[in-house]
Amino acid sequence: MSSSESSAPQVEIKYTQIFINNEWHKAANGKTFPVINPSTGEEICQVEEGTRSDIDKAVEAARQAFHIKSPWRQLEPGARGNLIRKFANLIRRDVDYLAKLETLNGGKILPLSMGEVFLTADCLDYYAGWADKITGETLPSQPGNFIYTRHEPVGICGQIIPWNFPLMMLAWKLGPALTCGNVVILKPAEQTPLTALYCAALIKEAGFPPGVVNIVPGDGPNCGYAIAIHPNINKIAFTGSVEVGKKIQEAAGKSNLKRVTLELGGKSPLIICEDADLDLAVRTAHEALFTHAAQVCVAASRLFVHSKIYDEFIARSIELAKKRVVGDPFDMKTEQGPQISKTQFENILGYIQSGKEAGAKLECGGASLGDKGYFIQPTIFTGVTDDMKIAREEIFGPVMSILKFDSYEEVIERANDTTYGLAAGVITKDLTRALTLVEQLEAGSVWVNQYAPLHFQAPMGGFKQSGQGRELGRYSLDEYCEVKTVDIKLT
Ligand code: NAD
Repeated sequence: MSSSESSAPQVEIKYTQIFINNEWHKAANGKTFPVINPSTGEEICQVEEGTRSDIDKAVEAARQAFHIKSPWRQLEPGARGNLIRKFANLIRRDVDYLAKLETLNGGKILPLSMGEVFLTADCLDYYAGWADKITGETLPSQPGNFIYTRHEPVGICGQIIPWNFPLMMLAWKLGPALTCGNVVILKPAEQTPLTALYCAALIKEAGFPPGVVNIVPGDGPNCGYAIAIHPNINKIAFTGSVEVGKKIQEAAGKSNLKRVTLELGGKSPLIICEDADLDLAVRTAHEALFTHAAQVCVAASRLFVHSKIYDEFIARSIELAKKRVVGDPFDMKTEQGPQISKTQFENILGYIQSGKEAGAKLECGGASLGDKGYFIQPTIFTGVTDDMKIAREEIFGPVMSILKFDSYEEVIERANDTTYGLAAGVITKDLTRALTLVEQLEAGSVWVNQYAPLHFQAPMGGFKQSGQGRELGRYSLDEYCEVKTVDIKLT
């Protein structure tokens, strides 16, 4: 730990209620739930617990906000963009507060929280720009006919987001939904509702009409499921685990066949080729896994290293991991904060145990840190084989699994031998090899000589069980629009 004394500032908690129709509400069932600081395991505050009745209330507010004559529907597209831009600027105005709140609630190191706040605002700006550029097509037809398409909002969108990037996930969801003219009911993760609730206040301050954005905190099985199964919600966008993603899709099918987009987990391979710049490879692999205590959906959790450089790569990676400063996320020297919750903390320690039992070699780390909070040492296993649990399942914790390979035919087979397909990376100086691997890897994003750069214009999403549909870029606009064909006979 970098220090036993916490440098955590006092962060005032301003909003803990349910946000519907631009007003704050108590939960219909009269209950609240605790929000925990993962750095200490202590309660930060209680938040109102949304359930089915609150979702019903939010749906009614959203329905009215989406009425064809409503102020929102009557806005010209550019004005919709201006509102989103105003929201983005309010987020920038409050960057210090939002970043501290994020660090307190989610345990993310403060510089990363700062970065996340700016990326949130930038993402909203990107989507604000689209508001007056969403167009249909004029289609060729026989003389006397006029055919065109209109891209219209889907309507009421349910959005369920996870705890690892509570602000950025909110922007990835609200940005495209709002720019296309939809109305939204968003449920933040029960672990991290605080920044989303603060954003609700900014939504109102920006001037969005009541009912356009509703934010209902609550748990998954009750509050989240009430969104997934609701007969009057037209679309659901979800980010989280594969297990819950399947439940969402099932509920959508069982209820009203609402449109579904899913951004799920991964077990992403990063392939380090024999000609790689070793410094670049070691640093990239380190950040690709350990960033935000490895609680990142695209984390490079299977590291395939060519046998010719395997020993040298391992030695340098261990050296770097041992130097990583773990501790108080408010301390500017800290590189890694706590895991999000006791449950995740225990899951990860369970995976470490399973790695040891399966015969992988524990090179460093392998244990928890400190006597409070949910800190885990940066951990490296070598000699990992494809069949081990740590090589197959998403750990979502700071456990690097290093696997050795000899040939590129072999590594492609092994990299693709997974139910996931979210992301992949290649480190090599050989362009032909890079492009060949890019072509063969089954993943929604493939990065070469870098890992997980973020560009809002570039779509993100998964092959196979890592998801359905795409977020970001213009691709996500398609997920939030219905296409209407209009065919007119000119008489
Ligand atoms: P989760 O999938 O259980 O939760 C994500 C969101 O879904 C939360 O808002 C939660 O309240 C909601 N939810 C849970 N059950 C629901 C249900 N039955 N119906 C509707 N909504 C429901 O994820 P988790 O438990 O927080 O984490 C477990 C695993 O999920 C992690 O270990 C990781 O593998 C994965 N995960 C992935 C991402 C990602 O970015 N892809 C993010 C967080 C977690």
